[in-house]
Amino acid sequence: MITGKNYIGNQLSAKGNRAFKTFNPLLNIDNQWEITEASKEEINQAADLASEAFRAYSKISGIRKAEFLRTIADEIEALGDKLLEVYSSESGLPNGRAIGERGRTLGQLRAFANHIENGNWVDASIDTAQPERKPMPKVDLRKMNVALGPVVVFGASNFPFAFSTAGGDTAAALAAGCPVIVKSHPMHAATGEMVSSAVIKAANKTGMPNGVFSNLNSSGIEVGQELVKHPKVKAVGFTGSIRGGRALYDLAANRDEPIPVFAEMGSINPVILLPIALKNRAEAIAKTYASSITLGTGQFCTNPGLIIGIKSKGLTNFVDTLAAQIIEVEPSCMLHSNISDAYNTNKANALSQSGIEVLASYNNDVKPNYAKQLVATVEGDTFLNNPILHHEVFGPFSLVVQCKNVEQLESIITNLEGQLTGTVISDENEVTSYYKIVEALQNRVGRIIFNGVPTGVEVCTSMLHGGPYPASTDSRFTAVGVDSIKRFVRPFSYQDWPNYLLPDELKNENPLEITRMINGTLTSEKV
Ligand code: NAP
Repeated sequence: MITGKNYIGNQLSAKGNRAFKTFNPLLNIDNQWEITEASKEEINQAADLASEAFRAYSKISGIRKAEFLRTIADEIEALGDKLLEVYSSESGLPNGRAIGERGRTLGQLRAFANHIENGNWVDASIDTAQPERKPMPKVDLRKMNVALGPVVVFGASNFPFAFSTAGGDTAAALAAGCPVIVKSHPMHAATGEMVSSAVIKAANKTGMPNGVFSNLNSSGIEVGQELVKHPKVKAVGFTGSIRGGRALYDLAANRDEPIPVFAEMGSINPVILLPIALKNRAEAIAKTYASSITLGTGQFCTNPGLIIGIKSKGLTNFVDTLAAQIIEVEPSCMLHSNISDAYNTNKANALSQSGIEVLASYNNDVKPNYAKQLVATVEGDTFLNNPILHHEVFGPFSLVVQCKNVEQLESIITNLEGQLTGTVISDENEVTSYYKIVEALQNRVGRIIFNGVPTGVEVCTSMLHGGPYPASTDSRFTAVGVDSIKRFVRPFSYQDWPNYLLPDELKNENPLEITRMINGTLTSEKV
């Protein structure tokens, strides 16, 4: 049952006096549930509980945290088809996508459980004492990663499961030993409540402290701002717009005690088309890209919003085929009327810039909240001189930049803002003649792709989903894959600490049998 209430730890609570409804973009009507926004009192309660829970939860063994994460996955699965129905009614996303995204979410929770179970992930290192060392004796030092404290997670609009309530950020923070307060995304608050009920059930079943998880509703920016400012909150995970992410980053930096904000934000994901590849297979590349641009109505952070090539017959073929193919794709529904309004506004803004030429635009009538896909083109000089054209147009939109030569191509890449991905489309060995282009691209992106598309983010250890600002606020970390746990820990050293008081990961006898760096050698031996 959906109550519209917040979860303040284990308790459902609705003390606030602001209520709102979520929206079904397919039917273009409000959903039935009345959602109550969290009050200031509830925000404080959730933060107090999380802070109290941290004392116990940060000391719980990897085995027990893994059991908690696996039970969350089982409980989400147990919500069955009803959860999928609510997801679709709040996002317009089809049942197939709901099933796929739920699978990814369960997979993430279980992958983190496997990752933390044995304790290797804490990066334990031990440098033993040398009391005889001259002129000064050397102390015993032992270091490992420890949890930061309560983490606030902002649910993402475009991934109601995988980057929201029990998504990647929450799984990473809980795995690290941090209680989580979710600032539920207002577009899918009911989905968030259902998933929260699964998390709370799992917490109770596995004996986790009350306050290890809370879920707060909001329909405006105030609840999120209060949470980020709260002294008991120690880190933030965010996925969304550059404007939102940057506002929260600045807020956190201006606290008396600044805290890290790991925001994964906008990206236009440049795709570089090399000349011989274009000469040999322009049409096939264009067909692939017509699908990638429109995949998920273009609502992926890795959507290819910028395609760059050097003027040639091959590039003309590519542009012609892309234009013909893109209008063959059946338009689909966006997540919300606000998102489709933003798409139309941002698209119009891009098209109002001088020098822009529309290549193809879907022009038939569409249902409300459906997006009309569009591809446009511009000369390299124009693109270089107009930063507005570098902004993300979130939706099925892409801009093809036609460069006059390879030097201009390199200059465009060098002048791009930070990006999540960069793609090189090359003939066999062609790329080896373009090492300067590849180097320039590597400096601007978090992941480089060879002869593929940027859409589709594999969840695994070697994935890097992040990049130089503004793709993310800290390019040293990934938001996807088990390494994302590193965002919510800090390294901590014990000096000359008694063996029996050390955590198991650092004890001489190595009870967890983990791999540690002992005096510069990686080993699973005892000290
Ligand atoms: P958003 O505007 O960035 O909002 C995301 C979350 O942050 C929401 O919960 C929002 O709260 C909160 N928020 C935003 N600005 C805030 C502020 N100044 N202070 C405190 N909290 C703030 O993104 P969205 O609503 O999910 O989607 C809108 C646009 O974001 C899209 O059209 C798209 O351009 C972009 N987006 C990009 C990606 C990507 O991966 N590149 C993903 C999703 C969205 P409220 O909603 O309650 O205001």
